[in-house]
Amino acid sequence: MKSETLHTESWMRLQKWRARLPHALLLSGERGLGKLDFAFAFAASLLCEAPHAEEGAACGECLACRWFSQGNHPDFRLLQPAALRIEEAGEDKSKAGKMDSADDKVDKTDKEKSARGGQQIVIDQIRELDEFLCVGTHRQKTRVILIHPAERLNREAANALLKMLEEPPQDTLFLLVSSEPMRLAPTLRSRCQNLRLPLPKAAVGEAFLASAGLRDAATWLALAGGAPLLALRLAEKTASWQTLTTEALQRGDRLDALPAAAQLEKNLKAMKGENPLPQFVDWAQKWLVDLNLAAQNLPVRFYLGERARIMELAKKSQPVRLSRFYRQLLQLRRESTHPLNLRLFLEQFFLGYHALFLEE
Ligand SMILES: [Zn+2]
Repeated sequence: MKSETLHTESWMRLQKWRARLPHALLLSGERGLGKLDFAFAFAASLLCEAPHAEEGAACGECLACRWFSQGNHPDFRLLQPAALRIEEAGEDKSKAGKMDSADDKVDKTDKEKSARGGQQIVIDQIRELDEFLCVGTHRQKTRVILIHPAERLNREAANALLKMLEEPPQDTLFLLVSSEPMRLAPTLRSRCQNLRLPLPKAAVGEAFLASAGLRDAATWLALAGGAPLLALRLAEKTASWQTLTTEALQRGDRLDALPAAAQLEKNLKAMKGENPLPQFVDWAQKWLVDLNLAAQNLPVRFYLGERARIMELAKKSQPVRLSRFYRQLLQLRRESTHPLNLRLFLEQFFLGYHALFLEE
């Protein structure tokens, strides 16, 4: 199942615009929805020489489609920060993987911005388009320039792009993709036709995850707040310790804070790559949100399978304590990007959490 099938309605809407394409299209929506895949699929459908009659999807077989899938269609350009290009080259990822890891890298690289260059889309990348745009299209169709993540256009690049859009080149679509469209210059945003991808319905997301071979699709989808590609990434990256976290949290008043911290520390230390603590704090925050909902007799949002236990725990604490701890978590979340001492961090968290359910 392709990830663009998560957004059938948006897809059909775009296909209707095909006859009168805008010069620039801004595709936005939360992280983990498959926006980049969707944008690639739309670009492919515009370039394809024999698109499907009803859905407009690319045929996947014509010469244009073959060029496109090999990444060398002459009427297509992808603009992204140099750092993403380099990391992708090293990782040899599929487009689907590219989309999600790209979001990730943006998070990670944000912090390293001062230390490493190439995090932005720069003016030279826009200038290089001049040559591309001054010749006619190779296949007598549309030219597509995909810009991702568009909020990474630096100011000069954004201005240069804006100039281009003021006198838009013929038969050219600028396709901007962004999880944070509000960070784009308003002048640029106003030049784009906006299409915001919504969260797919839970059943659609679950079917997609199941077809990707994910067990417990519903659980992961809920944990990811309904974003299917985020769910997939979280399942791939955190399955080894997510369950452990849930187990510790659901113990609540029966939690043995220090051993729980020690065990989790062991598992987190075994993780290679990026710091898993922000994700841990995210799981904890979601658990707290659910506890707060349960305390108000509302249905839980994230830990669907733990509903009964969450209801029980909510009765053992007080709303005021729960919300105070939630605020502390926000502080912890900031610290979690630079954890001085992993064990201490986890101990502090679990002790505070356990205390929520004790008599004051
Ligand atoms: Zn084709």
